[in-house]
Amino acid sequence: MAISKRIVMHFSKKVVESPIVCQLAKDYDLEFNIIRASISPEEEGLLILELSGEQAEYDKGIRFLVKTGVKIESLGQDVTRNIERCTDCGACLTICPTGAFEIDPVTRRINFDNEKCIACELCIKACPPRAMEVHF
Ligand code: SF4
Ligand code: SF4
Repeated sequence: MAISKRIVMHFSKKVVESPIVCQLAKDYDLEFNIIRASISPEEEGLLILELSGEQAEYDKGIRFLVKTGVKIESLGQDVTRNIERCTDCGACLTICPTGAFEIDPVTRRINFDNEKCIACELCIKACPPRAMEVHF
């Protein structure tokens, strides 16, 4: 399934100097449209991109960006958990690239930290009872 999403990327000087956007296009076959790009005097980069491509490649591309140290936010998307549906199965724990889920060592229940979420939507598909929801 082809998708198109707008994301906000914040990155450090080290990442500014590497061709991450070209790599995204080449390795994951994603098309990109740069909506805004700036580098602060401290040499931190901000990039607002529209990314288009196949959903599976988009997911891999997001994982790649997170691994390279890029901080990503989605434009206008918010992810929540419907606690009544959640069965604490843990499927989201391993799939989340930012570690937004943690297992409580005492209760063994799964905690969700919305502050760490970059709205990549990987957990939306991975959650068996559809407890994770995305709002636009
Ligand atoms: S995958 Fe869904 S049901 Fe399982 S722990 Fe995560 S939010 Fe809860
Ligand atoms: S959408 Fe889900 S998998 Fe993606 S960062 Fe947020 S909590 Fe993690």
